[in-house]
Amino acid sequence: MSVQLPDQLKGIYNEEQYARSQEYEKVKSRFSLITASLSFLVIILMFALGGFGWLDNYLREWTNNPIWLGLLFFGVIGLASDILTLPFGWYSTFVIEERFGFNKTTVKTFIFDHIKSLLLAAVIGGGLLALVIWIYEQTQGMFWVYTLIVITAFSLFMTMFYSTLIVPLFNKQKPLKDGELRNAIQRFSERAGFKLDNIFVIDGSKRSTKANAYFTGFGAKKRIVLYDTLMDEMENEEIVAVLAHEIGHYKKKHIVSGLLLSLLNTAVMLYIFSLVVGRPEPALALGAHQASFHVGLVAFGILYTPLSFLIGMGMNVFSRKNEYQADSFAASYGLAEALGNSLKKLSVKNLSNLTPHKAYVFFHYSHPPLLARLKNLKNQ
Ligand SMILES: [Zn+2]
Repeated sequence: MSVQLPDQLKGIYNEEQYARSQEYEKVKSRFSLITASLSFLVIILMFALGGFGWLDNYLREWTNNPIWLGLLFFGVIGLASDILTLPFGWYSTFVIEERFGFNKTTVKTFIFDHIKSLLLAAVIGGGLLALVIWIYEQTQGMFWVYTLIVITAFSLFMTMFYSTLIVPLFNKQKPLKDGELRNAIQRFSERAGFKLDNIFVIDGSKRSTKANAYFTGFGAKKRIVLYDTLMDEMENEEIVAVLAHEIGHYKKKHIVSGLLLSLLNTAVMLYIFSLVVGRPEPALALGAHQASFHVGLVAFGILYTPLSFLIGMGMNVFSRKNEYQADSFAASYGLAEALGNSLKKLSVKNLSNLTPHKAYVFFHYSHPPLLARLKNLKNQ
């Protein structure tokens, strides 16, 4: 990483912003190296000391009901890992993000966010886990088919109701007010043949100065959500261009295909899991005395990591291709320049790394880097 502003970024970053973005990148990389090393160390210790098996044996003194065992097992692991990671979350928000001027989270918001997330994980995660263990107990080898149905139903439900059930727990969403911007958006959605009633502004500024926009739901439930931090800095045409990109995702069927792909992914994963969950070897390897759903799930989670990395990589390739298509969709309505400008503003505002290594992009980026997107927009 050089502190010298590369020629290709002139006109996007100035010298000072560029130096800041490089520093931000360094601080974040160092931090994630430390946290990743520590969590690796903890896992190794759990293996070496047979921690998972010990916990399983210990809990069996209290209950032998497989559902309660599973809930207690993951409850203890979840809480322990939460206590271990909490200081890092704190440091990231109140030291790193603060230092670069992004943080808007108050201590109160931080604490309440945390409590709410824990409760949600306990209620939704615990509920789903109990249901899946119950299905496994009833159906054994075929459990993956029934579980797939449950998970599909749950993801459809969440896609539909995420904005009305979950988001309000953390943020305020208001319908976009009548006026210039709303008219411009309405004009565009008519041109694009896209019925859009739900445009909301969310108070992202409650936590961070970083800006974003997203699309959620489908059918009558579809809605576009703009961060208030986005509205402050952009011209109306640039916001319309961002929306055009989001509508592009919908029109090009990326939402549906993404959902289908992740279902396929889940099906494969559940099927492989169903082959190993009843076997004693993975449980014995983790120090347990007998096979069980919950210890089998931990062993499977670890063994599946390489495959899940490969699948994630494939999903990223798919996602980056979709991003280009959504950009091109916006460009086909004459919004190439406006979209380019808004992407530049977003990158600068979020201090994005504009010159990531190609290999890193290939493995980890769900969106193409800015320069590649600008080039694609220019070629339209
Ligand atoms: Zn996109």
